[in-house]
Amino acid sequence: MNCIFCKIIAGEIPSVKIYEDELVFAFMDIAPINKGHVLVIPKEHHNSSSTVPEETGGRMFHVGSRIGVALKRGLDFEGFNLHLADGTCAGQVVNHAHLHVVPRGVEDGFHWNWRQLEYAEGESAETAERIKSKLKL
Ligand code: 5GP
Ligand code: ZN
Repeated sequence: MNCIFCKIIAGEIPSVKIYEDELVFAFMDIAPINKGHVLVIPKEHHNSSSTVPEETGGRMFHVGSRIGVALKRGLDFEGFNLHLADGTCAGQVVNHAHLHVVPRGVEDGFHWNWRQLEYAEGESAETAERIKSKLKL
């Protein structure tokens, strides 16, 4: 399989490793939002986060948030974002599911461009019903 992150796990492409266990691998992002930006990936190849097994996904979240704490303590950041892009339209470039751990400071000059739309009367509940009708856990 021609996957850059699978090659990183296999050691065929060099990376700067932060952590590894039987389920996940964490390494420095090559083009960081802030210096210290880390990626946490499942060792098993999955294009989408939705097919990552629950135990592995839980480990990704746990390791990601503990790395976030290490970014605060080790690099003097004040917080961090956990970010996961699923699908090209959502900004996913590498098709091996990955969790970004982005260190953040009050004045780091980075803005997510988070917008806030408004629901019409009843629209939120109606939208929720459509989501729930398709929710499979
Ligand atoms: P995405 O946009 O898919 O959510 O994020 C992909 C991330 O992978 C980007 O932040 C990019 O900098 C990082 N990346 C892409 N290729 C490499 C690589 O060869 N090595 C490392 N360490 N990071 C990479
Ligand atoms: Zn892969």
